[in-house]
Amino acid sequence: MTARILVVDDVPANVKLLEARLVAEYFDVLTAGDGHTALATCEKTPVDLVLLDIMMPGMDGFEVCERLKANSRTAHIPVVMITALDQPSDRVRGLKAGADDFLTKPVNDLQLMSRVKSLVRLKNVSDELRLRAQTAQTIGLQELARVDRPDEPGSVLLVDGRASSQERLTRALKPIADVAVISDPQAALFEAAESSFDLIIVNANFDDYDPLRLCSQLRSLERTRFIPILLVTEQGNDERIVRALELGVTDYIMRPVDPNELVARSLTQIRRKHCNDRLRASVQQTIELAVTDDLTGLHNRRYLENHLKLLIDRATTRGRPLSICITDIDRFKRVNDTYGHDAGDDVLREFANRVRATVRGADLACRFGGEEFVVVMPDTTPEMAAIVAERLRLAVESRGFDIPQAATVLNVTASLGIATLRPDGDTAEALLKRADMALYQAKNGGRNRVVAAAA
Ligand code: GH3
Ligand code: MG
Ligand code: MG
Repeated sequence: MTARILVVDDVPANVKLLEARLVAEYFDVLTAGDGHTALATCEKTPVDLVLLDIMMPGMDGFEVCERLKANSRTAHIPVVMITALDQPSDRVRGLKAGADDFLTKPVNDLQLMSRVKSLVRLKNVSDELRLRAQTAQTIGLQELARVDRPDEPGSVLLVDGRASSQERLTRALKPIADVAVISDPQAALFEAAESSFDLIIVNANFDDYDPLRLCSQLRSLERTRFIPILLVTEQGNDERIVRALELGVTDYIMRPVDPNELVARSLTQIRRKHCNDRLRASVQQTIELAVTDDLTGLHNRRYLENHLKLLIDRATTRGRPLSICITDIDRFKRVNDTYGHDAGDDVLREFANRVRATVRGADLACRFGGEEFVVVMPDTTPEMAAIVAERLRLAVESRGFDIPQAATVLNVTASLGIATLRPDGDTAEALLKRADMALYQAKNGGRNRVVAAAA
């Protein structure tokens, strides 16, 4: 992971120390000795994370953080404040100023790296989202463009062996999350797989259970793999923390737990989870848009052409039949000419509905173009295909098509051509071609009929 980190501290020795450690981990490091320089740097160069000292002459760290978060050009940069251990009030002020995380002086290497990596990962995801939002805006997809939504409350699973800490941690998290509490780690695994949590907090306080076992199981289950895990552990057990981070635990916090720190870390993870979820959903949506026909919601031609090849391969290797049906609405141009293009669109939508209602779930229905539709029917013999096609023909002919905007009901018919896969060396193109020729014959033969291609 490479990222550009800005270290801000008025004491040059502190800057040098942090810089050396970060450079050793291959981060690209910029430095600033005061708040004004820090703000100017963030304005003019892309920065992925700011490590910010609080006590600085002139503008202190709180003010720098507030200003970064108030400026729309820099608000998305995560800020880690470096606080003194004996000043818990600093953390509250830092949170109010919009800080994303804290580190306590003297800064411990393990903490530094785990916090920095976690936040940089979070920022990479949100950068990707913002980029997609721009593209979505450009092509007019407003729904996809809304990424900078306010924080939604998170849902947290707290796995904790002791009643007293369960109560304390739940109380601390209450303002930011719905918390479900569970004492038995194995039951927790099932609970996590069943529900959808944004964060799992594992308190390493079980009498005879290794909490890392649960963490490792959570990481290997498909349903829980992407849920961040926050480990609560005692001071001085660095070995466990290193193992936990290697296992994929996202972050950790030391006992005694500072409620503000717990809230800050939990919020960071919940935001990250929400961000990831949105990103995944938008990828999914992009894929759907690419393979779906806007007007009818059926698959489009691009999808058919790709998927038909797979279906043919499968039918061939399993020695199963496969048939396709091409259907074209009769005299559709007249609908447009008489009632307008919008009425024509209504007919296409209703036609698609009837296709959908006629075919089985395993069949692939798509709009091939214009007023032409294709249905691919795996495991279907020519005889069966003829029955399905006839059923579809009837479904179109037997009931008029409602055209509300023209205040009329239209009689519509369609012609259909069917073809079946040949046992050896048949291709998608050849199959479509045969079905298309059968369709042509149906048109020539007077329309509103089904014609099967010669086997
Ligand atoms: P045939 O019985 O021979 O199939 O006659 P037809 O009029 O249905 O066939 P033709 O190919 O001459 O006309 C198809 C028409 O479909 C022409 C085109 O404007 C119209 N069309 C294609 N796509 C759309 C669409 O998305 N919406 C609407 N409303 N019309 C469309
Ligand atoms: Mg037509
Ligand atoms: Mg046509």
